[in-house]
Amino acid sequence: MIDRTHEPEAGGLRDSRGRLIDYLRVSVTDRCNLRCAYCMSEEGIAWKPHGDMLSFEELLRCCRVTAALGIRKVKVTGGEPLVRRGTAGFIAALKAVPGIKQVTLTSNGILLGEELGRLAAAGLDGVNISLDTLDGETFRRLTRRDGLDKTLRAVEGAWAAGLKVKINCVPLRGINDHELAAIAALAKDRPLAVRFIELMPLGNAEGFRPVAGEEAAAALEGRYGKLTPFAGKPGNGPAVYYTLEGFAGIVGFINPLSRGFCETCNRMRLSSQGILKPCLAGEVCLDLRALLRSGADDGALRQAVLEAAARKPAGHHFSGLCGKAGERCRDQEMFRIGG
Ligand code: SAM
Ligand code: SF4
Repeated sequence: MIDRTHEPEAGGLRDSRGRLIDYLRVSVTDRCNLRCAYCMSEEGIAWKPHGDMLSFEELLRCCRVTAALGIRKVKVTGGEPLVRRGTAGFIAALKAVPGIKQVTLTSNGILLGEELGRLAAAGLDGVNISLDTLDGETFRRLTRRDGLDKTLRAVEGAWAAGLKVKINCVPLRGINDHELAAIAALAKDRPLAVRFIELMPLGNAEGFRPVAGEEAAAALEGRYGKLTPFAGKPGNGPAVYYTLEGFAGIVGFINPLSRGFCETCNRMRLSSQGILKPCLAGEVCLDLRALLRSGADDGALRQAVLEAAARKPAGHHFSGLCGKAGERCRDQEMFRIGG
């Protein structure tokens, strides 16, 4: 039974705890051209019929319904979103959805350089680029592929194209923890944000040791001096930002483990297979694909989105992933839910 008390009002879409939900992360594929060892297995993902994935038209329909309920910002993610042909066109279509004010992309950067022209023409507002190391050999070991030079060129290209750029780095003990200050230095001469994200116990993260945000911050202070809280709000989410003396850009920390970020969580996630998840690590999964393909009208989709919002848990519990509560979910790993 759906609780209608959570119907959106003029104030937007709210969950049962009053949190405003205005941000949707849309994964357009679970495929990837890298194999980051903490995210994906070496073999990648098992082959599935193309039809298991939502078409761009189906994804757009879901986005239109969520936008009518109050979603204002969409992040296009994956897997690697740029391995799916037509992602730039999808972004252009998203930009035209009434209510959606901002569309950004997250990418590993490998194909970003060659797609930048199309993405800029599509009206993309910004890009997050994942970059865990500046060392070619570490990149090869960690991602099981070559390509550091392409990712670095994409950082330059995206910035030069006038896009808002954020670099995301997951510090890993014994792998890149000695590089954090050097990675932060990407924000020294460029007005971009470099963010450090604590490794979460999801996907293939077992066997990797996280570095707490506080330790990453200490490494930066050790090299560049005091971190000063940044007054602006450059993002949609849980990052806490700081400036450093002499830096054109800023640095940020996302600390899901040591700090928690659930109290102000503003997002839901839609996977490429049509699973709507109100929480990254919660067990609630609504199957929009089944609804879409059963001929459901927008009213039924709308009710499913409202139900997801109403059932958004208070916080993540990384040990209790999908399936525990008797609800089996197709999409649990980071490369399926899009980070
Ligand atoms: N392929 C794109 C990329 O790498 O940016 C988009 C998808 S990827 C799943 C999104 C982000 O999730 C990446 O920055 C990646 O480092 C991060 N990620 C993957 N597994 C993670 C984990 N267990 N904990 C924290 N972040 C993780
Ligand atoms: Fe691919 Fe992104 Fe996962 Fe790396 S983190 S394997 S680039 S989806």
